[in-house]
Amino acid sequence: MTDLKGRTALITGSTSGIGLGIARTLADAGANIVLNGYGDVAGALSTVQSSGAAAIHHPADMRQPQQIEAMVHAAAERFGGVDILVNNAGIQHVAPVESFPPDSWDAILAINLTSSFHTIRHALPGMRARGWGRIVNIASVHGLVGSAGKSAYVAAKHGLVGLTKVTALETARTGITCNAICPGFVLTPLVAQQIADIAAKDDISRNAAQQRLLAEKQPSGQFVTPEQLGNLVLTLCSPLGAEIRGAALAMDGGWTAQ
Ligand code: NAD
Repeated sequence: MTDLKGRTALITGSTSGIGLGIARTLADAGANIVLNGYGDVAGALSTVQSSGAAAIHHPADMRQPQQIEAMVHAAAERFGGVDILVNNAGIQHVAPVESFPPDSWDAILAINLTSSFHTIRHALPGMRARGWGRIVNIASVHGLVGSAGKSAYVAAKHGLVGLTKVTALETARTGITCNAICPGFVLTPLVAQQIADIAAKDDISRNAAQQRLLAEKQPSGQFVTPEQLGNLVLTLCSPLGAEIRGAALAMDGGWTAQ
């Protein structure tokens, strides 16, 4: 098993869903953890601390560049630096492009794309000084293909895949790697909301809405799990990951094979 003792991982948007699953896997492997996000902060902290990991939470709003800078500095102050940066915070809004609310567009671009530019630019100097680092951007299948109704999300995630490639090229001769992970549907609050919307719109049960959502896109008919994604991040942090650079790794039940 990969041993991350002495390493520090900062995971944005890690109080729920995929981010919390990744934080838990990295904590189990021995990393110090910096959590971020809203909601049940105490529950998220106790989840990662249950493996004995040292953990703090920082409340930075991923729409606010100065708060993002303060979060990276707080991580360095408490643990000496950020060795593993997982850019995971994300939100969704579904509407046709001509009626897409401009405020939602701005918020999605800020949280799902621009926040990663800021975390990367603040965390990279320390990684370069220490000669090792792992940057993992949680993009989406929507970083590779589109879906109707998701203009801002698809634009942001394609942008995040682009930022991943450039960061990987600029660090290619160092011990720092940067990659994107592109999940298909994972059953988290973000997707539960879409299931609830389908159930309401089509007047069907939640279970039927869930099956409809999967049947439309994900050939396996199964959700990807936060634990599977956590273990993929762990692999990227292991020696096996040393020459995986600038990749957009799909874990999507076959979605993008179609
Ligand atoms: P989620 O809603 O369960 O978690 C989102 C996290 O981001 C939460 O911790 C929330 O508090 C945090 N967050 C939201 N706005 C924030 C802000 N302004 N500042 C700081 N934190 C903020 O969602 P999830 O499904 O776990 O999604 C996590 C990531 O995975 C997102 O980037 C999402 O686009 C991506 N993703 C999700 C799926 C899926 O099917 N669930 C598929 C592909 C990609």
